[in-house]
Amino acid sequence: MEREFDYVIIGAGSAGCVLANRLSANGRHRVLVLEAGGSDQRFWIQTPIGYGKAFYDEAVNWKYSTESEPNLNNRSSYWPRGKVVGGSSSINAMVYIRGNHQDYDEWRDMGNPGWGWQDVLPYFKKLETYAGGGNDYRGDGGPLYVNNVSSEYHPLCHRFVEAAGQLGFAFNPDFNGESQEGVGFYQITTKNGRRMSAARAYLHPALKRSNCELIKHAQVTRILFNDNTASGVEYVAKGQTCSVKANREVILSAGAINSPQLLQLSGVGDPNLLRSFGIEPLVDLPGVGRNLQDHLDYSLYYRSRVPTLNNRLRPWWGKMLCGMQYLLFHKGLLSLSVNQAGGFLRSHPARPRPNIQMYFAAITYTKAPPGERPLLQPDPYPGFLNSIGPTRPSSRGHLQIACANPLAPVTINPNYLSTEDDVTQMLEGARLLRQLAQTPALSAIIERETRPGPTIRTDAELIEDIRNRADTVFHPSCTCMMGPDAKTAVVDTNCRVYGVDRLRVVDTSIFPTITSGNTNGPTIMVAEKAADMILA
Ligand SMILES: Cc1cc2nc3c(=O)[nH]c(=O)nc-3n(C[C@H](O)[C@H](O)[C@H](O)COP(=O)(O)OP(=O)(O)OC[C@H]3O[C@@H](n4cnc5c(N)ncnc54)[C@H](O)[C@@H]3O)c2cc1C
Repeated sequence: MEREFDYVIIGAGSAGCVLANRLSANGRHRVLVLEAGGSDQRFWIQTPIGYGKAFYDEAVNWKYSTESEPNLNNRSSYWPRGKVVGGSSSINAMVYIRGNHQDYDEWRDMGNPGWGWQDVLPYFKKLETYAGGGNDYRGDGGPLYVNNVSSEYHPLCHRFVEAAGQLGFAFNPDFNGESQEGVGFYQITTKNGRRMSAARAYLHPALKRSNCELIKHAQVTRILFNDNTASGVEYVAKGQTCSVKANREVILSAGAINSPQLLQLSGVGDPNLLRSFGIEPLVDLPGVGRNLQDHLDYSLYYRSRVPTLNNRLRPWWGKMLCGMQYLLFHKGLLSLSVNQAGGFLRSHPARPRPNIQMYFAAITYTKAPPGERPLLQPDPYPGFLNSIGPTRPSSRGHLQIACANPLAPVTINPNYLSTEDDVTQMLEGARLLRQLAQTPALSAIIERETRPGPTIRTDAELIEDIRNRADTVFHPSCTCMMGPDAKTAVVDTNCRVYGVDRLRVVDTSIFPTITSGNTNGPTIMVAEKAADMILA
């Protein structure tokens, strides 16, 4: 007999875990979470530095790739996505950034009342326990622990902050406080040396309740409708096709790639596209899969005159010492993210707000595919890298189903660097990195720039190198955009899908525009706010 629940949540990722917790909290509703991936109780998921292991591990990762990108000299971009309990929050780099206050005021001004900065701030406070304590901006009683580990960061990070100061960029002690602008140290989602995924913060506590259930290795293939009312979902588990009924709502939280895919597979999308794959259209929503936005990043690499993390993580004895320190005390390098310092800067003084995110890492490593070189195997000499990317790119891409098979990957066209302004911002950012390297604080320790190196000098050469090497920092979003007009948007301000009843999308895909910074925190905020709407 078909099982029945009040709420069926598709995907146990950053958003799905929050919803499972909040919707089951009052004990009155039966909540089911269906997750395509398996357990997150794995050493390399719990251990922060395990990021490098999960990056290509198909046991926990969807391992998507984009189509070849014309403005990246026809390169395809590799897009890891968590396929595991906790979703991408179980495999991400743990940097915690809320975004710029203006991002949310822009969401509101795009026709989404209730989503301005003052509206979302209470949810950002509600979701976190900040290690630095609560104040007007920070929360101290929420499920997600946000750690401040700057005292453990490599000394070169402090030198980076000094160098930025020499160029006139102010130190900001808290990017998630009153203002985002400036340079400083990243806060990370870890606690007691272990990753603080959305699963650890929200789902695992909720699963102790008798009214909250999780089915792992259950890939949803279709949302089921009675006329235009979502009534349940169909999924595949252990090779069997099963279905469950949702008496109140189906909530789609499968992430920015799989949420639009599932809508299209279920007949919600551009009717011509759906018919071309033999899918009977239910609702004409051409915005599904459109408006794709992502952050692109470009790095400069340096050989250093002073020791960096390469010296500690490259030799076998260094790895062993770090491993022992971690196993005994849950401290040290294995408990940290490699992204330790950085900032939010204007790439040019004329820019009206910080438009560039910078990452400074006291390590150099490659993202070479498996077999060539392990991801976090550093170079055999002291080195560090510094990188930039526009926080609010104007390029827009799209993704769509490639066939009617629900188990096949979608076609992804990010359309990176397709606007002149995005190229200009990258170029200004690259120039800024070079200026930073010439400051007294950094030039004193730089032996040489190893990549792209001194042969790349002119604007044209730098742009060509950007096209050859810039790549994603894994923040695809906005593919089921929230907005007032069903001709472009997919959900309304309550995250309800236009044209159908009892179906919401709640995850990174509903962002109207990408936020300035890393997207995990904003996704959790969206889910916290949506949970209140659903319960209301
Ligand atoms: C390598 C990497 C590094 C990152 N680094 C950072 C960082 O440092 N800081 C930061 O803030 N953000 C970072 N991000 C981004 C951030 O983690 C994501 O934006 C966020 O986790 C997305 O949340 P979501 O709920 O939209 O989707 P996800 O967390 O991806 O969750 C979607 C879930 O749905 C499941 N699912 C999908 N399809 C189906 C289906 N058909 N049936 C059942 N289940 C399904 C998936 O398996 C997954 O568990 C990173 C991401 C990656 C991949």
